Amino acid sequence: MDTHYDVIVIGAGPGGYVAAIRAAQLGLKTVCIEKWVKDDGSPSLGGTCLNVGCIPSKALLESSYKFREAKDELGIHGIVVNNEDLTINIAEMMHRKNKVVAGLTKGISGLFKVNKVKQLSGIGRLLAERKVEFTDHDGNLEYLSGQNVILATGSVPIDIPSAPIDGKLIVDSTGALEFDKVPGRLGVIGGGVIGLELGSVWSRLGSEVFVFEALDEFLPIADQQIARESRKIFSRQGLNILTGALVKNTEIKNGKVFVTFGKDSEETIESFDKLIVAVGRKPYTNGLLAGDSGVSLDERGFVEVNDYCETGVPGIYAVGDLVRGPMLAHKGSEEGIMAAERISGKASQVNYDTVPSVIYTHPEVAWVGENEEQLKQAGIEYKAGVFPFAASGRALATNDSEGFVKMIADSETDKILGVHIVGPTAGDMIAQAVIAMEFGSSSEDIAMTMFAHPTVSEALHEAALSVHGHAIHIANKHSPT
Ligand code: FAD
Ligand code: AMP
Repeated sequence: MDTHYDVIVIGAGPGGYVAAIRAAQLGLKTVCIEKWVKDDGSPSLGGTCLNVGCIPSKALLESSYKFREAKDELGIHGIVVNNEDLTINIAEMMHRKNKVVAGLTKGISGLFKVNKVKQLSGIGRLLAERKVEFTDHDGNLEYLSGQNVILATGSVPIDIPSAPIDGKLIVDSTGALEFDKVPGRLGVIGGGVIGLELGSVWSRLGSEVFVFEALDEFLPIADQQIARESRKIFSRQGLNILTGALVKNTEIKNGKVFVTFGKDSEETIESFDKLIVAVGRKPYTNGLLAGDSGVSLDERGFVEVNDYCETGVPGIYAVGDLVRGPMLAHKGSEEGIMAAERISGKASQVNYDTVPSVIYTHPEVAWVGENEEQLKQAGIEYKAGVFPFAASGRALATNDSEGFVKMIADSETDKILGVHIVGPTAGDMIAQAVIAMEFGSSSEDIAMTMFAHPTVSEALHEAALSVHGHAIHIANKHSPT
């Protein structure tokens, strides 16, 4: 067998599989090595995102939201639901989630076939001189050589000694997608994106949820006005969010988890039926690099790369969660495309200033660009326009009017520096802001653009108008400029 390739990709998550498809589209002879297998031992592509991340979590968020809607919200429309008869069949909900995952992972295999990407199921290891050792699931070895290699082995959950995962009572995010019944009381360690999404799923289905966050600030990565509003909304929904609460110890006794945490210089113990550890993720390089591969890691274990995802070794690239930057599927995919295109001689780049972030709670939280705290710290003068969904006709008609849109523009040039949203369909709406920023728009450009009525997107238009005190459907905070 010819074992020389133009591109060898190790890992088939959103970074690796997208890189492989793009490389093959560009006429490069491409192979992608992926070790993930399903419970029945068959290969599964798509990485964390498709198998145990973005997709299954969104499937459960949707199911649980429908349950919450039926229980608490349909009544307002005059739809009568007898809450005593309302039940959730968890096995059925999981079955649907698994079907969505199976369909999508199979879809990647199909895409590999049509694009002529060779798929190898097993473990890849980078050796010196751009050689790759491939070990299949029976332990057979094969050696491949690549003109170029793209490393895309992703990340795994961080574990903490104070809450060791036992896979039964104390689980990581993967375990939290597999509960067979709704826990009565559920603890979540970590108030980040994953903790909030998984906490929301089980809270909507009836769990009493406590989120322990060690930091004093809630969502420090977000604009703090957005973070405060989100916290209020999530608390009203029933999430008990404890900030400044460091989990120090856990103990399993009589089928319960006892969590000891420190808050306000006091130690408290709470007991739970299940505990999810969602304290972040770390790059995964176990067994990936032979000692003489030449590729180096930084002090946090990320593969060191430049702005173009090139490692220090010519022809070796690394993309996705394995390298610096936010651990997001779309960021990894764009890096995969950039790496493949640069290999084929194009001058592709990723614009790291316009990576959107979304938290898929209800309402969603989404942002792109700089927030007020970052701009203040950098000493950049800005103007901010805010528009609440409570003044949006469509949001009110939908009975989904919590939250607001904030647009921030440079005081001098009016260039949009950031957009921050908590509210209905924020995750989709933020794409409009990303496009605007990608094209270097000013807030006035958006203010002068026509938006269909009635849509929730009109809130973005009004926020842009409000930057200069021209909002129509709300009293303006500052005088017109
Ligand atoms: P991964 O998806 O981790 O893929 C790496 C692949 O490499 C894996 O399949 C692994 O099996 C394989 N591999 C590792 N080592 C080897 C080896 N030596 N040989 C062969 N194969 C190997 N991001 C979003 O943007 N939106 C979301 O809504 C979102 N939700 C999430 C929800 C959860 C619960 C979790 C856990 C994550 C979520 N993420 C989300 C993050 C997202 O999943 C990651 O950012 C994304 O999967 C990273 O892609 P990647 O290709 O770098 O790595
Ligand atoms: P993220 O990295 O966005 O997924 O968020 C993980 C969160 O977990 C961070 O905000 C951390 O502060 C938090 N965290 C980490 N360790 C602990 C701990 N022992 N107790 C409570 N929170 C923690």
